[in-house]
Amino acid sequence: MKSPILLYDTTLRDGTQGENINFSADEKLEIALKLDEMGFHYIEGGWPGSNPRDMAFFKLAQRATFKNATLTAFGATRRPGIKPQEDSNIKALLESQTAAVTIFGKTWDLHVRGIMGITPEENLAMIYDSVAYLKQNGRETLYDAEHFFDGYNDNPGYALETLLAALEGGAETIVLCDTNGGTLPFRIEEVMREVQSGLAEKTGTAPDNLPCRIGIHCHNDCGVAVANSISAVHAGATMVQGTINGYGERCGNADLTAIIPVLCLKMDLPCMHTDNLAGMKKLSRFVSETANMIPVSSRPFVGESAFAHKGGIHVSAVMKDSRGYEHMNPKLVGNRRRVLVSDLSGKSNIEYKARELGIDLNGNGFDSQKIVTRIKSMEQEGYEFDVADGSFKILVEKFTNQFKSVFDLESFRITVEKDKDKPCTAHATIKIAVDGQDEITAAEGAGPVSALDNALRKALDKFYPNLDAMRLVDFKVRVIDGRAGTAAKVRVLIESRDQDDVWSTIGVSEDIMEASWMALADSFQYKLSKQA
Ligand SMILES: [Zn+2]
Repeated sequence: MKSPILLYDTTLRDGTQGENINFSADEKLEIALKLDEMGFHYIEGGWPGSNPRDMAFFKLAQRATFKNATLTAFGATRRPGIKPQEDSNIKALLESQTAAVTIFGKTWDLHVRGIMGITPEENLAMIYDSVAYLKQNGRETLYDAEHFFDGYNDNPGYALETLLAALEGGAETIVLCDTNGGTLPFRIEEVMREVQSGLAEKTGTAPDNLPCRIGIHCHNDCGVAVANSISAVHAGATMVQGTINGYGERCGNADLTAIIPVLCLKMDLPCMHTDNLAGMKKLSRFVSETANMIPVSSRPFVGESAFAHKGGIHVSAVMKDSRGYEHMNPKLVGNRRRVLVSDLSGKSNIEYKARELGIDLNGNGFDSQKIVTRIKSMEQEGYEFDVADGSFKILVEKFTNQFKSVFDLESFRITVEKDKDKPCTAHATIKIAVDGQDEITAAEGAGPVSALDNALRKALDKFYPNLDAMRLVDFKVRVIDGRAGTAAKVRVLIESRDQDDVWSTIGVSEDIMEASWMALADSFQYKLSKQA
């Protein structure tokens, strides 16, 4: 029987070593509870000896209830020359009152002699004493062998001795760490096997029946942290440490949002319940939002683009049989197939997309090839419909005579004023027609686009009073280099949101205000046609 793989998340400790990643104690608790709900086996909450925020987290966590996960506190082996009970870091580990403790120690002579300036014997004693002391205090103890692979390359005999010291101290789990992230998958696999037979020999057991569990902890400095973790499991590791979205120091840790689907779906090693696996994309989003990081769209399994198809040939194949261009069903990880519309599109993309947006293409004398041609020429001018669903919908409706304009622009005027060193102010007046009735309004804003947005809202308010829920959430401007000898144009992309929908619209013009107006007008048209 295959032994179950245990998932060990260190987003809250190693993840926060990543540049720009910070969580408050409350945010840490929210993430920990989410991970618990998803069925993670271990959650490393922080390093209580190193900072007050992590201590605060463990205090909060003591009052929370975890259904599945064991919470662990992380820290170092005792300092040289003292007893574990005299070490303030080890005291803090016990005070955090977690059922399990993860303690890391040195494997590599470069660190032992060179950096710490201690003897190899003292290092072994530090490992043994610390683990044994934690065990005496009733803690499940996991031992993280720091720089294991570098140390093993240097001196395999000593590296193994450090593990034996932890094992003799009573560690239930020994985790081999590629701390510098410089090891490659085939070497990980090789060392993993050698360590298991080495430990088996020393303890008089079989490599697949060691008196401890073996785990893996990888960093992504060669871009192979996920591959390394998978290789380690392939060679017998039964615990995988990593972080959500691969957050972590330098190039990050092994990304659990990729490792877990690989284990469950590709290696037949179910380590998470199917229902929870389907929450993987949501979890990834939740953690990136809490960390205030923009989600990476190309992230395997959970990224927005992970199952997005742009090329026409791909789309027509996927519509016939999704296995043609998808390695798995996106729903298994809570993701979805997306079909993008662009100048690479064929008829299939348009037909798929129209169906998705609820536009009926039949019975209108419609020719999807004509739409493709139109889109291709517009993309030549600088449009990008794969990032502007809202404008695409309006375009297809116009093409098939299904578009009902909810308002028409008569005119607008914008003035921007700068007075000495005071901030700029902008004023907009607008005249629109709704059902043949003219409306003129004026409004101010922090900038010209917000003044125009405010004026348009005010004008529409009389006819459509419930526009309050709609907000513009993102506004992007890009200068497009003059294609085919034309003057430089700007592309404006606006993202809007209401209670239940997010949509993007686009405008392209040589004039930034005109491009902004196009995107803004499409956004309101989209919102109001949705209501109609
Ligand atoms: Zn690490």
